[in-house]
Amino acid sequence: MKATKTIISTLREAPNDAVIASHQLMMRSGLIRKLGNGLYAYMPFGFRSLMKVEKIIREELDNAGLLEIKPTVIVPGDLWKESGRWDKMAGEMLTAQNRQGQDMVVSPTAEEAFTAIVRDGLSSYKQLPFTLYQINTKYRDEIRPRYGVMRGREFTMMDAYSFDKDQADLDASYDNVAAAYRRIFKRMGLTTISVKADTGSMGGSGSEEFMVESEVGDDTLLLCPDCDYAANVEKAACKTEVPLDSNGQPQKKTDAAIEEVATPNVFSIEDMEKFFGEKPTTFLKALVYKVYNCAVDLSGTEFYKNAQTVTEGGQTYIPETFFCVLIRGDLDVNETKLAAELKASGAELASDEDVLKYSGAPHGFVGPVGIKIPVIADKSTVDMHDCIAGAGKAGFHIKHVEPGRDFTPFMTLDVRTCKEGDACPECGGKFYMKKGNELGHIFKLGTKYTKSMNVTYLGESGKPVTPLMGCYGIGVDRTLASIIEGHHDDKGIIWPMTVAPYQLAVIPVQYKDKMKEVADKIYEDLKADGIEVILDDRNERPGVKFTDSELIGYPIRIVVGDKNLPNVEMKLRQDAEATLVPADEVAKKAADIVREELKKLNA
Ligand code: ATP
Ligand code: MG
Repeated sequence: MKATKTIISTLREAPNDAVIASHQLMMRSGLIRKLGNGLYAYMPFGFRSLMKVEKIIREELDNAGLLEIKPTVIVPGDLWKESGRWDKMAGEMLTAQNRQGQDMVVSPTAEEAFTAIVRDGLSSYKQLPFTLYQINTKYRDEIRPRYGVMRGREFTMMDAYSFDKDQADLDASYDNVAAAYRRIFKRMGLTTISVKADTGSMGGSGSEEFMVESEVGDDTLLLCPDCDYAANVEKAACKTEVPLDSNGQPQKKTDAAIEEVATPNVFSIEDMEKFFGEKPTTFLKALVYKVYNCAVDLSGTEFYKNAQTVTEGGQTYIPETFFCVLIRGDLDVNETKLAAELKASGAELASDEDVLKYSGAPHGFVGPVGIKIPVIADKSTVDMHDCIAGAGKAGFHIKHVEPGRDFTPFMTLDVRTCKEGDACPECGGKFYMKKGNELGHIFKLGTKYTKSMNVTYLGESGKPVTPLMGCYGIGVDRTLASIIEGHHDDKGIIWPMTVAPYQLAVIPVQYKDKMKEVADKIYEDLKADGIEVILDDRNERPGVKFTDSELIGYPIRIVVGDKNLPNVEMKLRQDAEATLVPADEVAKKAADIVREELKKLNA
């Protein structure tokens, strides 16, 4: 390709909203252009790299025996009502009605579509197992799209769905995809860590995320140095320590009755520490949470005895509930873990108004004793004794609180946010932390969708059986952005050979006379040899062409200049120095490097 025949429009400065390297470089090198918030168009160079990422994904999945199909992006809303996610995912989904007034969904994910497609053709156990996939457009109404295509609103996802007859087969399908993922990321020059993940609104059993370490990662990972435990902080569990009193001794039961103390200016844990002169490990922190679509059976609780429930997709839940969550004073509640434990689609701190309404006290004075809403106790509170807590009325705290004696939790769950230094639940090693970006996700769904959407086949015994499903996703755009995030310097991108928009640039210092003749010849030779090459035939100053070539990041650059002929300069993007090579040998030499590099990455 000749530079004058394509679009090279590099920018000196990145736009203000680009704050991470990959976003800045994608904008500056002209790979993408912004159409709207979270909406990016790929320009010719960006599109080439995106297609290479897709191609690698496709090759590895095809190799692993997965089957590609192409469903529609727009899916009937009725399918989402069947599965029970029409309401649950309302915030994230872009929906529309057609002229007949039928609800339509712009796919944010495609469990419903694939389940419906399979339902129509699956009749016998003999057809199982299989895994279908697509590489297609998704739309999610992300609240805060950011970092360019890392978190866009419209993006391309590879999503796969496996259908199996039993758990052993599902395990095998899951492992098969996991192995393909590892090859995919390796071929792109990415090193991924797989971590245990939250099973979220998808519901299901096992789940792992493929993370790439990144300073600007949206996810926090906790890893054990002594065993292979690794988990997203949204999922991570840790060993529960024995709760200590202010002298560092295990807390002891008290016979003392509850004592109310006037604490008009004590609102926070720090205030309590000062006022009472005790350590936060002796405080029972009580918080009121609003929980959405909780599917835990609450009929045994006084407060929710006659609550209105909704049954959808075979699941019964209460759309909005309030809980008092109790945790040791030095710890924090993790809302994702809380929602997962309560089989809910989300949890958030209640508004000031709701806190007062449901606990009888303003924030800061909420307590577990006498509270009307159900109390969820974090495991950290289990062996706590003689504690200090909010009194459940404004301006007061209570001392000598004995869990079990003074209040009874409705449930004891693990809802704490684990941190660096906490003890690994498997071996007790001390966690260390990393930031990461999620590139891919694998997930054992079980019968969540096949049950709610009534998929069955005739089993060997002749009886109808519900198949098990797994779902698997890779963010194609985010993977591309992560490659750049992990491969750049202050001058620009340093593409791995497998995903570079072009493998090589031939740059004549001036495109005329002998330099033109030599550059043309090298260009033609390389093209004939199957190398993806750009000939920079633009009438620009050499400095501009060099700067652009570094910004765009061609893995190899050949510079044809008067003063070096009959030699030319060849330089690898990651090297500081160029070497002089005879002009009539350079095409072969460079092509060998390209092939060598491809072989290494694709091995
Ligand atoms: P995140 O936690 O980052 O929002 P997710 O858990 O919502 O991700 P999945 O539903 O598992 O993501 O989607 C599969 C893959 O799609 C993710 O691993 C990620 O690579 C990609 N992805 C998800 N949301 C976006 C987005 N808004 N922009 C770009 N890629 C995305
Ligand atoms: Mg998301």
